[in-house]
Amino acid sequence: MSSYPARAVVDLGAIRSNVRALADHAPTAAVMAVVKADGYGHGLLPTARAAVDGGATWLGAAQADEALALRAGGLDVRVLTWLYSTGVPMEALLLADVDLSVAAPWALDRVVAAARATGRTARVHLKVDTGLGRNGLTPADLPDVLDGALRAQAEGALRVTGVWSHLAFADEPDHPTVRRQAEVFADAVRVVEAAGATLEVRHLANSAATLTNPAIHHDLVRPGLAVYGLSPVPALGGPGAYGLTPAMTLEAELATVKRVPAGHGVSYAHAYVTPAETVLGVVPIGYADGVPRHASGSLPDHPGGPVQVGGRRSAVAGRVCMDQFVLDLGPDARDVAGDRVELFGTGAAGGPTAEDWARAAGTISYEIVTRVGARVPREYVGEAPSDAAAAGAATDHEGGLAGAVATGGSAA
Ligand SMILES: *Cc1c(COP(=O)(O)O)cnc(C)c1O
Repeated sequence: MSSYPARAVVDLGAIRSNVRALADHAPTAAVMAVVKADGYGHGLLPTARAAVDGGATWLGAAQADEALALRAGGLDVRVLTWLYSTGVPMEALLLADVDLSVAAPWALDRVVAAARATGRTARVHLKVDTGLGRNGLTPADLPDVLDGALRAQAEGALRVTGVWSHLAFADEPDHPTVRRQAEVFADAVRVVEAAGATLEVRHLANSAATLTNPAIHHDLVRPGLAVYGLSPVPALGGPGAYGLTPAMTLEAELATVKRVPAGHGVSYAHAYVTPAETVLGVVPIGYADGVPRHASGSLPDHPGGPVQVGGRRSAVAGRVCMDQFVLDLGPDARDVAGDRVELFGTGAAGGPTAEDWARAAGTISYEIVTRVGARVPREYVGEAPSDAAAAGAATDHEGGLAGAVATGGSAA
């Protein structure tokens, strides 16, 4: 048990049920739970195991090291990794039986070289830039890379297993680019299949598209945010509207409670000044722990990030510091040092949510949960018996990212 005065409590039962809900939304597709960035800050291995228990048959990891950590942690479902540069440990990925994205001509050369060096047959997913303008082969580059890939397939170095892409406006389901990208994607699939590839999976849908756009589920959906119970389209509905439950509760304990007079400046630069005599509470968690400095509070123009303390709502008063922030608890406050402060959680009983913090800080809930600092311990509740067994087994493999996760570290 850590003595750190804050913790992120992660409900693995919520992750299992969120994955089941996502599978229900996409009954004709398999589910790849995206666990990049240390499981969106929730912890890579516990999250991945819970997602698999909930029915995910694939795991998605942006970085090669994350994919290798999944294997080191004993996860044996299909794993796809997609974001790497020339230093990628391609041989290790092949030996770990990880599916590989190819998003650039050089990457195909590396995959073929690694396949020859290891004697393994790589499974390759061709990533097509259908309009996001980020990673991926342009439709113009696709034919040459496809040609190279099919020649390598003929010699047994690889199999063209998938074609995939990513949307620019998935959170605006009616945006014209969604339909346009879906058409470009369908064209790319046709090109690849017409050239003779027998695809196992076509995949385009992230959380938002999984929940709102069944026409583009194809064979596999790739939800990330929704696995953790947050709404990818808050303008259309909160988590409950999609059958999701937020998995992470970020909480801390009050370090100091003290009475101060009216006109007392609070925290750096006195961005907040007490309007009347009041009680201040110091919360020992700051921007180094992921509390966004943009959620600082200065009355009356900018209310700070919301918290729940003693069953009441309060908000950050003044600047968020590296290690702490301050609450104005009001003149009648009875709170004492050690009392629990909830920054965000499920939102049940009127408590604040990661989405509320995103709004207070001018960002998205993705950034709120992924930036919870490495020094904040993750504590797990709602473990299934298989999680507990796997966690025991995983201590045999500590080291690298798996070890970091076991001590609450971040793979991000
Ligand atoms: C992060 C990511 C996802 C998951 O996105 P969400 O919006 O969190 O569901 C899916 N596909 C790719 C390529 C990603 O980078």
